[in-house]
Amino acid sequence: MKIGVLALQGAFIEHEKTLRRLDVETVEVRLPEDLEGLDGLVIPGGESTTIGKIARRWGLLEPLHAFAQSGRPLWGTCAGMIFIAKEMVDGKPDQPLLGLMDVTVRRNAFGRQVDSFEADLDVPALGKEPFHAIFIRAPLIERVGEGVEVLAQLEDGSIVAVRQGNLLATAFHPELTEDDRFHRYFLDLSEVS
Ligand code: GLN
Repeated sequence: MKIGVLALQGAFIEHEKTLRRLDVETVEVRLPEDLEGLDGLVIPGGESTTIGKIARRWGLLEPLHAFAQSGRPLWGTCAGMIFIAKEMVDGKPDQPLLGLMDVTVRRNAFGRQVDSFEADLDVPALGKEPFHAIFIRAPLIERVGEGVEVLAQLEDGSIVAVRQGNLLATAFHPELTEDDRFHRYFLDLSEVS
């Protein structure tokens, strides 16, 4: 299995490390041709405005869109989750979105005081053990469309992990913990696609 990690900006190396630990071959994606032959793609956390603008400049918006439409799995973490969303609140006006997943995300939803926090999430799709999630200037999901499955919520009900067919999105950073269950969940999507 060969998984690409969009390597324009942000925490792509951490995703590669986790995937390699799971014996997966990884490819850093910077140009449209890097998407060839991949079984799935991760869009990391970082700064969604920067990732979007570089992707536009390097002609990646259309190829990324086509990649997802082909049915291969695509996972956005944090900034990556914003980038794959259909709608965004509190984003930059000129910030490009791929518009793939039928959700509305609120950028920097947790304000300054709680820029970063950690929470143990109940994620039934991953089993009984809670998932320790790290949130860094995280977005949250305000609306989910039909066909979007909610995988995890905070105690106050805020939605922080979702899946829509071959698309996966998490508001937090599973690549920053030792727990690789979200990565394995994503790889399982590749096997069925
Ligand atoms: N606040 C960032 C953004 O708007 C996301 C932060 C992150 O990816 N950790 O893109």
